[in-house]
Amino acid sequence: MSIQIPKGLYDIVPYSEKEKWKLIDYWHYVEKILHKLSNDYNYKEIRTPIFERTELFERGVGQATDVVSKEMYTFKDKAERLMSLRPEGTASLMRAFIENNFASYSQKHKLYYFGPMFRYDRPQKGRFRQFYQYGAEAVGDPSEEQDVEIIDMLHELYQRLGLKDLVLHINYIGQANTRNSFKEELKKYLKPHLNDLSKESQDRFIKNPMRILDSKDERDIKILENAPNILEFITNEDEESFKKICNLLSHLKIPYKINNKLVRGLDYYNKTVFEITSSYLGAQNALGGGGRYDSLLKEFNGPNLPAIGYAVGIERILQTMIAQGIKVEDLNNPFIFIIPLGEKSKNYSFTLISSLRKNRIPCDIDFNAKKIQKSLQIANKCNAKYVIIIGDDEMDKKKLKIKNMEKRTEEEVKFDTLIYHIKTLYKAG
Ligand code: AMP
Repeated sequence: MSIQIPKGLYDIVPYSEKEKWKLIDYWHYVEKILHKLSNDYNYKEIRTPIFERTELFERGVGQATDVVSKEMYTFKDKAERLMSLRPEGTASLMRAFIENNFASYSQKHKLYYFGPMFRYDRPQKGRFRQFYQYGAEAVGDPSEEQDVEIIDMLHELYQRLGLKDLVLHINYIGQANTRNSFKEELKKYLKPHLNDLSKESQDRFIKNPMRILDSKDERDIKILENAPNILEFITNEDEESFKKICNLLSHLKIPYKINNKLVRGLDYYNKTVFEITSSYLGAQNALGGGGRYDSLLKEFNGPNLPAIGYAVGIERILQTMIAQGIKVEDLNNPFIFIIPLGEKSKNYSFTLISSLRKNRIPCDIDFNAKKIQKSLQIANKCNAKYVIIIGDDEMDKKKLKIKNMEKRTEEEVKFDTLIYHIKTLYKAG
């Protein structure tokens, strides 16, 4: 039997009729948007390794979280040290922040990352074992304005991608002592219903009771209807802060929904948390989310600097784009496709394609062209914008026709003005 890809993984490919979200051109399109977005908000990219010491995630993300306790790909290296494939980006970024002594450069930092993450979970629609995240983190600014800048950036990402019908959920989970007293109240409320909760929520009751609020199980949702509300536990100061954030969001005309059940899965969050959902995704409906994590750097023995960030899943973004019929314009297809017919034209065609490429115009050629129809099919398959056929006649007259494959129009151009002409066409798009 031939070797197959492990469960929960997929290939990003140049061709796919059925699963368009796997097309590399779509990936490049999204990647271009997120690099430009980050640049527009003055966030700098940081690249960290895909595996780290297991301890980093245990301490950073939290041992009680599903991500760390159940979903990590952990292995021993040859020196018997425990390593894990990164399940998320923030812990590694904060480690790098401390190790590279970023705090000595300035007190405020805006960073972003893009790359594969790994979680050993049951694969399903929108849930993979290797998936890509793009995330941004702002370190050193405790202000509400910083919270809103991060949310605005995330909102702008979806605007640029053209995504529709998304909901921004926002909540405020306060400081550690707020959460501790809330947890006690929540447990008191849930205790009489314990046997009726889903198996997953029963497990969480001891380890991580706040996560029960996140449950997608219908029975749990019903039981949680009258559960205590964290917003009634936060301090007056926190309440003011949350109000300010909401007002600023309204001021920027960013629609949001206060969702007091939103707690997010990772341990490090405090104060503001948020999530973006799409109704096009089914059960795994979160496109992205984030929140404040003011004590993580300190937890890692780093500087006592507050931080806030978000992460989005690229697969889910692409799947939503496809479901919403969003067209990707920037496809990396050849602009010109050359079909040389006969020996005479071969040398000329070769020089032509070589100089087009040196002029940075994407193009291709059918070196083995024999029948026009066959070569045109190849040009069509690779979605070339223009086709040039060069035969003996063209070589004799020193002019040729450029065919627009989409509009089915053609124009005649002389050899000596050809490169200039194509460059003008290319610039015009
Ligand atoms: P999290 O780090 O769990 O807050 O996840 C942030 C985003 O990453 C989610 O909203 C998803 O879009 C994406 N994501 C998380 N886990 C997976 C997964 N197993 N497969 C695909 N996307 C994921």
